[in-house]
Amino acid sequence: MAKGKRYQKRARKGGPWALLAVLAAAAALWAGRTLGLLPEQEEPSSPTAAPQTAEGTLQVRYFDVGQADAELIQFPGGSNVLIDAGTSSTEDELIETLRSLGVETLDLVVATHPHADHIGGMAAVIEAFDVGGVVMPRVSDSDTPTTKTYEDLLESIAEKGLSATPAEPGAELFSEDGAALTVLAPNGEDYGDLNNYSVVLRLTFGEDAFLFTGDAEEESEEEMLNAGFDLSAAVLKCGHHGSETSTSQPFLDAVKPRYAVISCGADNDYGHPDAVTLEKLSAAGVEVFRTDLQGTILAVSDGAGVTMTALGRDAA
Ligand SMILES: [Zn+2]
Repeated sequence: MAKGKRYQKRARKGGPWALLAVLAAAAALWAGRTLGLLPEQEEPSSPTAAPQTAEGTLQVRYFDVGQADAELIQFPGGSNVLIDAGTSSTEDELIETLRSLGVETLDLVVATHPHADHIGGMAAVIEAFDVGGVVMPRVSDSDTPTTKTYEDLLESIAEKGLSATPAEPGAELFSEDGAALTVLAPNGEDYGDLNNYSVVLRLTFGEDAFLFTGDAEEESEEEMLNAGFDLSAAVLKCGHHGSETSTSQPFLDAVKPRYAVISCGADNDYGHPDAVTLEKLSAAGVEVFRTDLQGTILAVSDGAGVTMTALGRDAA
């Protein structure tokens, strides 16, 4: 862990935090308006208002960052964890959006794997915010990328005086007020393909769970099943932008999601999401949300159910 820090947070109950939350919400609302992210007349309770931080809820945003991934978890006590940061082409927009949501500190940043559509905007994000820690997969020497994007990320981490913590399956990365984020993958050490190194995370809060899969493909899904992890989740972010190489039937059967989120770009060159994936999800009765069609997707959990809202293509 960076600087010997642990990412556990003590419970925060009322007191000055309640006031801070109100002030942060007001500031974020104001910021959102100045950035043109919110209509002038919008009430704070509207789905497009930022943030709806009813204290005690867990919020997850799956940002519309084109053919890429970026997700923000806002914990019940106000802590923020960012999973991936999209490409460099949306980094300024992502930073502005995070600020408009009242984010000043990213308690933890997770780089699922070192591909540009996941880490391209991360160096800029790390430079722009106070960062508590960075988690990355341990990648074999032969698979370690030599790209400038990856080197820029390592440099930004070093410049902040941080060091990347390797993701260990079974490890709890962060917890606050009953919500906890646990590593499920990677379970292997040498894949020959960066996608399968993806850090897969399960977020739990009361009866609700979320699965963040990066670009993990069938091989990693099989390893998670073999490891015996509880994979069940109300919300599954489909692996690899809805590609047919992920969301295998046994994995889908184990996750049993009610909702799936697919993060991909409109009219992308890869044909994501794949029709096979969409058919599988449909056959399983899963309601699908897509960033390419619906913009940023917001999921709010009170620990006893998840509410999904598509914020629209202008919201992020
Ligand atoms: Zn990707």
